[in-house]
Amino acid sequence: MSLLPVTLYGDKILRKKVDKVSDIDNETIELIANMFETMRNANGIGLAANQVGANKSIFVVDISRVEEYENIKPTVFINPVIEKYSDEKIIFEEGCLSIPDIHGEVERPESVVIKYYDTDLKEQTIEANKLFARVIQHEFDHLQGVLFTDLVDEELKKKFKKPLQKIKKRKIEVSYPVSETIDYQLL
Ligand code: ZN
Repeated sequence: MSLLPVTLYGDKILRKKVDKVSDIDNETIELIANMFETMRNANGIGLAANQVGANKSIFVVDISRVEEYENIKPTVFINPVIEKYSDEKIIFEEGCLSIPDIHGEVERPESVVIKYYDTDLKEQTIEANKLFARVIQHEFDHLQGVLFTDLVDEELKKKFKKPLQKIKKRKIEVSYPVSETIDYQLL
């Protein structure tokens, strides 16, 4: 396993709607293992494939180290589709490994039903609530080219403008490996 550089705000692949996965080859298995390692190394709880430069509809989530979520097993979601959003919404602060040191409140549905494929390409459907649903929606958005900073209120958007430009120009210090150019693409 190896750590992959994390793409940063401004990187083109973060704005791309990624391609579906058609088969799980060794390359994809290795990518998934490396995504888990990269996420944990950066103390993240979710990571989408385009955050490591891969144009594939895959994200991983591991919230098992968060209190009250120890029973949620680390999960890989392949070709995910969110089938149902709850009417009830909650506001919660989010951050993102591709947008270091920026945090802001985002309103999202409290729970979702998500269909996806596992690494045996077996179809799975689960209902996720609270933090689990939050991370799933954040990562699912990544695969559509959407970032949480797109979803904050106008005031925060203004406040984020300068810090986001700094990230784009890489005038920041990050404690984990990051991509060197905005054109970085792995697979
Ligand atoms: Zn993110």
